[in-house]
Amino acid sequence: MDTPKVISEQVISPKGGKIANDHFIGTAWLQIPVPDDGTFHRPLFTVTFEPGARNNRHKHPGDQTLLVTGGKGYCKEEGRPIQVLREGDVVKIQPDVKHWHGAVPDSWLTHVAISTNAQRGDAEWLEPVTDEESTAINQGVAKPVGGRAP
Ligand code: MN
Repeated sequence: MDTPKVISEQVISPKGGKIANDHFIGTAWLQIPVPDDGTFHRPLFTVTFEPGARNNRHKHPGDQTLLVTGGKGYCKEEGRPIQVLREGDVVKIQPDVKHWHGAVPDSWLTHVAISTNAQRGDAEWLEPVTDEESTAINQGVAKPVGGRAP
């Protein structure tokens, strides 16, 4: 399946509002299908990254699962190879593992971020990701999720 260079502005939910904080490089959008209800502590966030956009390195005190719903992107966990994300991929990120995620330079990316144990607190935001790091696929070091073909 070819990777779309532009995905629909509505994959499974509206792309939401533009993220206005210092934790992203480039433009990204946030929609919240399930807010933290204070009981089950399992919010869902739909994040849509414009081409090249990515978040800064960060850690989640609870865990995080990314379900890719459109486009193409990256996820990089500290100490592991950068992974290429495509629609349908699922990435599980353990609590307090330093990582970042975002779109490749020539495609949008949309994923649903499923957090559990949200009562442990918000993400801890760390340093940004350089352009060189975020284009690692072009240097031949990126690995696909689950061993499938790139
Ligand atoms: Mn994350």
